[in-house]
Order: sequence, then C-alpha cells, then structure tokens
Amino acid sequence: MIVFDLLCGVGHRFEGWFGSSEDFASQKERRLLTCPTCGSAQIERVPSASRVNLGAPEPKAPKAPKAPAQPAKTPDMEGKDPFAIAQMLYSRMLDELLTKTEDVGQKFPAEARRIFYKQQPVRAIRGQATQKEHDELVDEGIPVARLPVPPRERLN
Ligand SMILES: [Zn+2]
Repeated sequence: MIVFDLLCGVGHRFEGWFGSSEDFASQKERRLLTCPTCGSAQIERVPSASRVNLGAPEPKAPKAPKAPAQPAKTPDMEGKDPFAIAQMLYSRMLDELLTKTEDVGQKFPAEARRIFYKQQPVRAIRGQATQKEHDELVDEGIPVARLPVPPRERLN
C-alpha cells in the first residue's frame, strides 16, 4: 500500500491509501477521489510527503547503548555483594595508606606544618588533629585530609 498526502482544490489536506501510484491515477481520472471535507474531486498529490508501506516488519529499534564498562573486578570480588566489595576496597585503601604514611600521632599538626614549610623532608604522614587544628591547617593552605580511623588503629 502507498499512502499519499492529498490536497483538494480548496486546500484541504488528507491522506489516501492506494495499491499503487497507478491506482491513485486511475481513481483520480475517474473522479472517484473526492475530498472528505468538501467533496471536491480536484485532488492533487503532495509529492514530498508520500510514504510507502510494503508490509515489512517495523525496523528494529536501535540497539540500546552499551552499558558503561564495569570497573575491573579481581577474582576475590566475584559473587560478593557491592557492600562487601566496597568494604574490601576501603580496607585495602586504608592498608595502603597505613603502609605508606608515617604515623606521627599527636604531633600531626606541627609535623604537617614543618613539611609544608619545608622544614622537614617531604613525606606522607598521618596522625591525629583536633577539629580546630585541622581547620587551622586548611586555613593555611596545607593539604590535609580527614579519614575515619580504622578500628584496629583505635585498638592499638
Ligand atoms: Zn476539500
């Protein structure tokens, strides 16, 4: 079937279904085509808007975009629930942090300051600071980050 957009002499626009363009021409010739609004038999095709329906199945919808790649998982994470994985990653991060930083304990604010002002060799340190000390370091532009202390550190 072919759908033609049609226009009558008065300007009414409507659709007509035909077996072929010859079918359309034939119906028009025999004045079988009339405008559903005004009954005019003066019908013209609107060429640009014709559509063809060959009875073919609807084109498939475009495939959904691929899901973003999952972050690489190590085998020991397989089958674990996301919460357990998050805890594992957090624990590893803390392990790394603890092995790569020097614990200066209560001297942290003073030591952070000495390192920042290059009175001490640059190194990664960890330790304790009160909220006030932390804020003072931040105010001075000294890069410090607050971390929750892992439980075993509290036990030590
Ligand atoms: Zn009309």
